[in-house]
Amino acid sequence: MSHILIIEDNHDLARGLANNLEIEGYGVDIVHDGSEGLARARTSEPALVILDLGLPGLDGYRVLSSLRAEGNDVPVLILTARSEEADKVRGFRYGADDYVTKPFGLLELLGRVNALLRRAGAPARASVERLSSGERIRFGEIEVRPSTHAVYRRGFPVSLRPKEFELLMALLRRKGNIVPRLDLLRDVWGYDAEVVSRTIDTHVAELRRKLEDDPANPRYIVTVRKAGYRIALD
Ligand code: CA
Repeated sequence: MSHILIIEDNHDLARGLANNLEIEGYGVDIVHDGSEGLARARTSEPALVILDLGLPGLDGYRVLSSLRAEGNDVPVLILTARSEEADKVRGFRYGADDYVTKPFGLLELLGRVNALLRRAGAPARASVERLSSGERIRFGEIEVRPSTHAVYRRGFPVSLRPKEFELLMALLRRKGNIVPRLDLLRDVWGYDAEVVSRTIDTHVAELRRKLEDDPANPRYIVTVRKAGYRIALD
């Protein structure tokens, strides 16, 4: 199992990220402080470090430059709210491998994590990775081909908007388990997105309109009262 170290002082963000990475099959370690993060990166030998820039203790740049100065070439994915080009350039100059700006979509982040681990030769075993290799997901009369974002209903192509597709994938990735609305918001629209939860409902309604025989009595995308949504796979 690939082991990922998250150094991020926003507890909610770190926890949410860790949950999703764990669902994907990674082992995850969280540290909320820069100097502790540096120490942990030295001792626990993670396969990948997800590193925030604004951190108490040591900031992310110093964590990164210390690691590189010690000859530690663990892949580092910088995660930050700073979107300025100068920060990005500075991050890469200090030896970052990739860079994601908050707010980010979960699928984008997982894709980058997989790509970095693959590049580093670690066994990436995330389902998103497997899904991108041409796998088809079938449930009821629906077929989804994640690699091409194609969706078919009774063999006929269904045209989904990008967010509708991501929403569908976010449900599928939980394999029929209940997905709380907040998780859907975070997965599809990004952690800091100012999206009202009504947005989820309208996208769910659209997905149902496109996939269900009777959108008012959905067979696939099921509302779980006061909990969220789940996809019925059987
Ligand atoms: Ca921070």
